[in-house]
Formats: sequence, structure tokens, C-alpha cells
Amino acid sequence: MKLVWRLLGFMKPLRGWILISTMTGFSTVAAGVGLLGTSAYLIASAAFHPSIAELSVAVVGVRFFGISRGVFRYLDRLVSHHVNFRLLSILRIWFYDCLKLLAPARLIHYQRGDLLSRAIGDIDALDQFYVRAVSPVISAIFATVGFSLLVGSWNVRLGWILAAGLSVTSFVLPALVYIFSRGPAKQLVDQRAILSQTMLDTLRGAAEIIVFQQQEEDLTQINRVSLQTNRAQVGLAHSQGLSNGMNAVLTQGTVAIMLLVGIPLVRTGELDGIMLAVIVLITMASFEISIPIAQAAQFWESSLQAARRLFEMADQQPAIIEPVIPVSVPEKPNILIRNLSFQYHGNLPLAADHLNINLSYGRKIALVGENGSGKTTILNLLMRFWDCQPGEILIDGILVQEFSPKELRQRIGYVSPGGAIFQTTLRQNLLLANPGALDADLLRVLDCVQLGEWVQTLPDGLDTWLGASGLTISGGQLQRIQLARGLLMDAPIYLLDEPTTHLDVETENRLISLFRSIFQNRSLVWVTHRLVGLDWLDEILVLENGRVVERGNQHTLLESRGRFYQLWEIQNRLSPVSYTHLR
Ligand code: ADP
Repeated sequence: MKLVWRLLGFMKPLRGWILISTMTGFSTVAAGVGLLGTSAYLIASAAFHPSIAELSVAVVGVRFFGISRGVFRYLDRLVSHHVNFRLLSILRIWFYDCLKLLAPARLIHYQRGDLLSRAIGDIDALDQFYVRAVSPVISAIFATVGFSLLVGSWNVRLGWILAAGLSVTSFVLPALVYIFSRGPAKQLVDQRAILSQTMLDTLRGAAEIIVFQQQEEDLTQINRVSLQTNRAQVGLAHSQGLSNGMNAVLTQGTVAIMLLVGIPLVRTGELDGIMLAVIVLITMASFEISIPIAQAAQFWESSLQAARRLFEMADQQPAIIEPVIPVSVPEKPNILIRNLSFQYHGNLPLAADHLNINLSYGRKIALVGENGSGKTTILNLLMRFWDCQPGEILIDGILVQEFSPKELRQRIGYVSPGGAIFQTTLRQNLLLANPGALDADLLRVLDCVQLGEWVQTLPDGLDTWLGASGLTISGGQLQRIQLARGLLMDAPIYLLDEPTTHLDVETENRLISLFRSIFQNRSLVWVTHRLVGLDWLDEILVLENGRVVERGNQHTLLESRGRFYQLWEIQNRLSPVSYTHLR
């Protein structure tokens, strides 16, 4: 029930529209009732050959209800869909806001297909909640009371029969349908998420599947998941069939009972014969109100399951807590990492172990070490994707937790190896970092990352479309576009995570030679496993298992012949020629 109240909470801003929608829904059925009622009156009265004048009011009534029914139906669809789309947009924005706070730390453990299914499928499933569940139920309550009172004003017993028939069809039948469809509806939401994850895995790993000849196995897996999804759909179709059949039986059953009770009343003169015809047709028309409720009952559980999945994700505590009144981030921040330790989970080893790093403004450091030694973790903590546990990060002597993460990130040019290129133009991809940048700025940063000549060769220059439906770019170009995007921020601090791994040796060397001038007068943390062009940095930290095992500038590290020297030797022995000029 708490879940339903929470869902209803999203409708608060749309209260007025929901009221109008309920009124138009009710008015549509009321016009249908009026149409059949006046038609029955007209046809039954005409059998007694009255004068045309006596029938004129009924004729006008038929016309009025006939036209108004169409108008109300149109308004009903218009308003209910307006409410629906507004509601979906409220839900999407709310969910996006939640994800913004949770990313990346809390989302890392979700599979992409599952996330996609929650953000699109589950929110869409809630569309059923309002259009089919909320508005029709309110209209049905009005209709049951209103039409029963109307019929009751002609004959109390018949009024009670209509009230009982409408109540059973509008409320008891949907409750039964809900019980029958609960299992398959819940299963359907879960299966859809699994199906979308399986499809996404297949599409992403298509090359590997072909290389390792796994097509048959992959197809079998997709078939299995599809069959399970189909089974859930068939289960729902069964309950839908049952509900439609029962609805017809109950409508006709109520009409039959009305006739069984009404005909003797006409015989004894307690009820006018013409009114019996009117009441019977009104009864038939009024059952229209119950049809959407039974359908709603069927989707009720899938809506609730979708809501559960959304709330489960949205209710997670963000990995960092934003300060209520943030301190503003200095223009030229002096960062000091003091005794910092961090582990991703309680049962995992430390990814950062008692680190002390001085990143005063303008200082340049490199983090080197084997894979998994904790280099990226330090960048993650500086970006405040996670909070450090013991230890602290200070900016000009103030704890990093006192600053707004958003403002802090605006001061940091972060280039990560997994950064995304969006399906839009090259210009828009770059402007993401600095929406106000001019074309000249874009060309300047592209030049900096050695892509100046490449842009000249593009058919539409900066307007060239990138991504799946546009120009396919190589890993090296993608990496340089990301670097250009970072440079466009013109930030005082740069965090570069393996910015040159996909580049050929020549381009890498050229780019690295430019780093000295690009990052002059800025702070730099450069994560790299390639020990090339590090001689101008203030400090190199060699990491192992989250710990700094060696530190110093390149000269002192080579002199001391420790771990750095070993790594340097291995690399230069493997590829001595290409690195010589950078030594
Ligand atoms: P590097 O950048 O040096 O390759 P990382 O900082 O990425 O190393 O990783 C340090 C350690 O933390 C590794 O053991 C890695 O498996 C672990 N790790 C990294 N990211 C996560 C994560 N999101 N959840 C759990 N463990 C992680």
C-alpha cells in the first residue's frame, strides 16, 4: 500500500488535470447511458403510436447524447493522455535526478541492460498505472453510485441490482483478475529485463561470439529467455481472456436478473413497461465503465513490480553526501591527500592504503604501477565519485566534503579511458565540456591533440556526425577527442587516466612532448603504465597494492635503481628506439 501511495504522490502536481480526466471519463459513459436510455424510451414509446410532438424531447436527447458522447470520448482521450505523458516525464526526470546522484559508484554493479530496462521499460510500465488504474477506478465509483441512484429513483429493487452488478464487475472481478495475473505480471517485468540484458550482451559481444563460434549457444540462450518471456505473456493473456469473458457474463447476467425482477413489476403495474426497457439498456451501457478496471487489475502487479524496481534503485544512499552549504572551490586549488585509505567493499582488500600526496597548485605528478595497483582509485577519490574512509583530502586546508562535488568537478579536467563519445556531431561532443566555446577554440584543442589535420579531411568538419550512425572512429581518435574535450574545459587541475594507451608510438611521443606546454601553470595527475616523457614531472609515485612503494622525480628514481628502474628497464629493453628521444 505504501508503494501505491508513493506512486500517487507523483500525481500531486497533476491533481487538477486528473479531476478533469475523471470527469470526462465519467461523462463519456454517462452520455452513453443517456444515449441508450433515451433511445430505448423513443423506440418503446413509438410502439404506442404517440404524436411526434410527444417524442420530440427524446429525439433531441438522442441527438444530444450521441454527439456529446463523441465529444466527451475525444476529450477523455486527450486529457488522460496529457496526464499520462506529463506523469511519465515527471517520473523520467525524477529517476534521472536519482541516477545523477548515484553515478558512478552505486550504478557500477548494475548491468547496463538492467539499467536500460529500468529507465525505459519500467517507467513505461507505469504508464498503465494512471491511464488504466487510477482514473477508471474513480470514474467507476462515481458511476456505480450515480447510475444506481438513477435507476433506484424509478425502482429501488432494480437500483440495488444494478449497484450489486456494477460493484461485482468493477471491483470484485478486477480483484480476482489481479490474483490470477500477479505471478505472470511480475515474471514478465523481470523476464523483460533479462531479455534486454541478454540482447545487449549479444550485440556488444557479437565479434567475440563469431570468433569463438558461439552463435548456436548464444541463440539457444536468447531462445530460452524469449520462451520464458512468452510464457509470462501467455499467462497474462489467459487472465485477460478470463476477465473479458467474465465481464460479458456479469453484464448479461445483471440484465437477465433485471428482466426477471422487472417483468413481474410491469405486470403488477409497479413499473412502467417503457421504463423497464430504458432501465435495461441503461444497465447495459453503464457496464462500459468496468472494462478498463479489469484490464488495470491485470497490469496492476506489473506496474507495482516496475515501481518496486525503480524505487529500489532510487532509494540507495549516494556514495557521497553533498554539504548543505558548500564552501566555494578556490580558483587555484592546493590539494593535499593525507593518510588516505579506501576499499570498495568491506570484504575487499584496500585499493588505497595510507596515501600521502601533495598536489599544491601547479604541481605535476605521475602515478605508475601495475594494473590493479590503485592508480584509477586515486582519481576516483579526487573526482569524489567515492568518499575516502580513513584519511582526508584537503583543498586549501578544508575537507573536500565541504565543497559542492559539482563545483569541484567543474575545476577538474578528467580524461578517463572509458569516456563516452555521444551520437552527435564532433562539435557537440566537444562542447559538452564548455558549451560557450568558439569554433576557433575547438580547432585549437583538436590541433593540440594532433587531430587538426584529421578534422580538415572530414566531409563536414566539426559538423561531422560521430557514433554508431555516423563516422566510425578508431580507439586512438576517440581517446584524443576525449583529451581535446578535457582541454576545452581550461581547468586548473587535470586528471589523465592512461590518455595515450591507444595511440601509435609516433603520435604518442608527439602528444607527450606537448604536455609540458599544455599543462604549464596547472596541476596534473597523470596515470600511466608507459614510462615515457616523465622527466619534467615534479614527482612520480610508484604504486603497488594501493600503497606508494617509491616516490621521487625520474632522475632520483632511476638513480636509486628500485622498482621504477626495473619497470623502466623492461619497457626500454622492449622498445628502445622509439623512446630514446624522450629520455
Ligand atoms: P589501476 O588503475 O592501478 O589499474 P584500480 O584503481 O582500477 O587500479 O583498482 C585498484 C583495485 O581496486 C583493484 O584490485 C580493482 O580490482 C579494485 N577495484 C577497482 N574498481 C572497483 C570497483 N568499482 N569495485 C570493486 N573493486 C574495484
